[in-house]
Amino acid sequence: MISSSKITVLVENTAGGRGLLGEHGVSFLIEANNSRILFDTGQGMTLIHNAEVLGISLNNLDAIALSHGHYDHSGGLPHLLPLCQNTDLYLHPDATQSKYSPRGDIGFTLDEATLKSSFRRVIKTEKPTKIIEGVYLTGTIPRNHPLEDTGGSFWHNKKHDDVDLILDDQALYLETEKGLVVVLGCAHAGVINTLDYISQITNQQEIYAVIGGMHLLLASRERVMATVTTLKKYRIQLLGANHCTGLGAIVLLWQELKSIDCRDCRVGTILAINN
Ligand SMILES: [Zn+2]
Ligand SMILES: [Zn+2]
Repeated sequence: MISSSKITVLVENTAGGRGLLGEHGVSFLIEANNSRILFDTGQGMTLIHNAEVLGISLNNLDAIALSHGHYDHSGGLPHLLPLCQNTDLYLHPDATQSKYSPRGDIGFTLDEATLKSSFRRVIKTEKPTKIIEGVYLTGTIPRNHPLEDTGGSFWHNKKHDDVDLILDDQALYLETEKGLVVVLGCAHAGVINTLDYISQITNQQEIYAVIGGMHLLLASRERVMATVTTLKKYRIQLLGANHCTGLGAIVLLWQELKSIDCRDCRVGTILAINN
């Protein structure tokens, strides 16, 4: 159980302060129980710069965890390699598979040997995995909800005939004294599937906060409303939808969840989760 934690948005599509830069991507620094964990790394153009502007050192993080292999989450990793001798890397085994969208290659750029020689340990997370006491990764998220899909056209190959279900997509969650705090990368598994799975594996019926990319930019109104219903069902109190959620979906979520604390999670945003 985490008594106090701090989540800083280091990379996001939009920036909210002097000298900070935005890019399509996401990266969160999670500080909990004297550990520093980086969840995702953006695409690599702004992470180091934004960390410097915010006065944050990325040397010797305890762990780096990737939500999935897409470039806008894993692209900052090559820039961090010289700083990671004492850092563990957590990623799903499918994160390093080749990945394409209609825009071309959107996959992971580092090979297995480079990862092994750069990090203290490389831990593959097919199953739910503990990073430190109170901070966990989901591993593969079961796809059960009929309205949810990966949110776009994704393949494993250039010919576009081998569909990528992005089974590497995983969320990070913290067990805090306030309740569960869920941090999403892109939520290609679907927000409802992700929250249902976390509820199942933690045996908890309430979720305090959901932060990160919800990938609803192409979603039907019906799907966004089903997401709202699920957020209400889990009695969520803090929503920080950002990155790939989509402006239309964010507006709808904020309108439908007026009674809770909805935050604009741009670069520089700090969420302190204290009891
Ligand atoms: Zn993605
Ligand atoms: Zn993304």
